[in-house]
Amino acid sequence: MSKPPYETTIGLEAHVQLATNSKAFCADRNEFGHEPNRNISEVSLGYPGTLPMLNEEQVRSAVKLGLALGCKINQHSTFDRKNYFYADLPKGYQITQDENPICLGGALPLRLAPATSQNSTPRSVQLHHIHMEEDAGKSIHAAGEPFTKVDLNRAGTPLLEIVTEPDLHSAEEVDAFMTGMRRLVRWLDISDGNMQEGSLRCDVNISVRPEGQAEFGTRCEIKNMNSMKFARGAVAYEVDRQISLLENGEKVIQQTRQYNPVDGTTSALRDKENAHDYRYFPDPDLPPVVLDDNYIREVKSEITTLPWQAHQQLQTDFNLSTADASSLSEDRLDYEAFLRYAAESPDVPGLAKIWLNRLAPWAAESGISTTELPLSPTQVASFQELILAGDVATAAATSKLLPDLLAHPADPYTRAEEMNLIQNNDTDFLDGLVQEVLQANPGKVTAYQKGKKGLIGFFMGEVMKRSKGSAEPKETKSKLEEALRPR
Ligand code: ADP
Ligand code: MG
Repeated sequence: MSKPPYETTIGLEAHVQLATNSKAFCADRNEFGHEPNRNISEVSLGYPGTLPMLNEEQVRSAVKLGLALGCKINQHSTFDRKNYFYADLPKGYQITQDENPICLGGALPLRLAPATSQNSTPRSVQLHHIHMEEDAGKSIHAAGEPFTKVDLNRAGTPLLEIVTEPDLHSAEEVDAFMTGMRRLVRWLDISDGNMQEGSLRCDVNISVRPEGQAEFGTRCEIKNMNSMKFARGAVAYEVDRQISLLENGEKVIQQTRQYNPVDGTTSALRDKENAHDYRYFPDPDLPPVVLDDNYIREVKSEITTLPWQAHQQLQTDFNLSTADASSLSEDRLDYEAFLRYAAESPDVPGLAKIWLNRLAPWAAESGISTTELPLSPTQVASFQELILAGDVATAAATSKLLPDLLAHPADPYTRAEEMNLIQNNDTDFLDGLVQEVLQANPGKVTAYQKGKKGLIGFFMGEVMKRSKGSAEPKETKSKLEEALRPR
């Protein structure tokens, strides 16, 4: 008897650490990588008598992200205390938004490889809400040391938590969601989205159910995934584990679990009976965040074309391939730079190839951004003209002329002449050379006419030599074939 297929359901709680100058509720610096316990003050240490003061930049970032994702902005949101005891949480509670978060609903469009999307309609993941909160400090459990160290530099740094509906179905979609979120927060300039440094991480809620069952299965939550590889591994393992349980007639227990990267398994941290009771209650120290229409309009005006709109526009306005449009809408500054070059380009799909294969790698190698290329849009346009007009062979243009121009910016035509790269497709000149070559090699002409077609390469080479490499190859070949035809 064949087993019923199972459907996987996943909901994410993604945390984005914001790139504000100071922390969420005090003036401590918000920077990664400092010596432990340097970016701290009485407020982030939770001393009695201190009071939090909301960072406006955090609110602005939340509204910006919410507007980009099509959320409803809550114009009257409030803060709550989430109480638990842990060494890296000095106050004994985390300030968060439980009852009235700042953004509601919304959706993130996914960029899926064609093979993994169920159908061709673009797929979006529905969001439940986005709320503001603060991060805890960091506990460092160093191997071989009998104690745990606490670094409070991170205590009180501003976070946005994006909570999705249970609307994802595979590791690929989790990957696409987190990758898309990373792209978006960088695009909006609200976070560096760096997963290794913990600026972007997520809790993954996973359940399975037999296909056709109306209600969702019991879920487990895998805490704190800070790498895409781990998240994929955790989903794969957890789906298998839960299906096996059901196949054996057992039940999935609602649990918080952790992923063990060493062997790719997940293991229980705590189950429902032992779940924290966070005793949420409104934070009496913080007034509600009240946003008027003008404020929301002003933040909205700061948002330019969004990554998925850029992707679409590159395909429809410039006829770029999906892959090229995708690469060129990864980074906002790169995309905006590309548009400035495209505005002058005689051939935008051609420019996209030059950009992705030559200019962007060159910039990366030189340690600069594509906004700082030494060649102007006009110069790159003239460079393309040389190729389009057949003045310089494509191969010579990209492998010789372009690197030279990047190293020593100059007018492309002038430089091509100096480098002896201008091809000659002047008809009289070429015809003359073709005749010279045929007259000098009567034996080979006869051989060719008797069927040794491979000799075309020899004739081409002779014409090239006499033209000092300036003959345009396609033109030369067709002239040779014409002249060699027996009459
Ligand atoms: P809680 O109140 O316990 O935090 P929520 O309802 O807020 O639970 O959901 C937390 C996360 O879990 C959300 O991302 C949601 O989409 C996801 N989730 C809820 N139920 C399921 C389920 N049965 N399977 C997978 N994910 C789920
Ligand atoms: Mg919740």
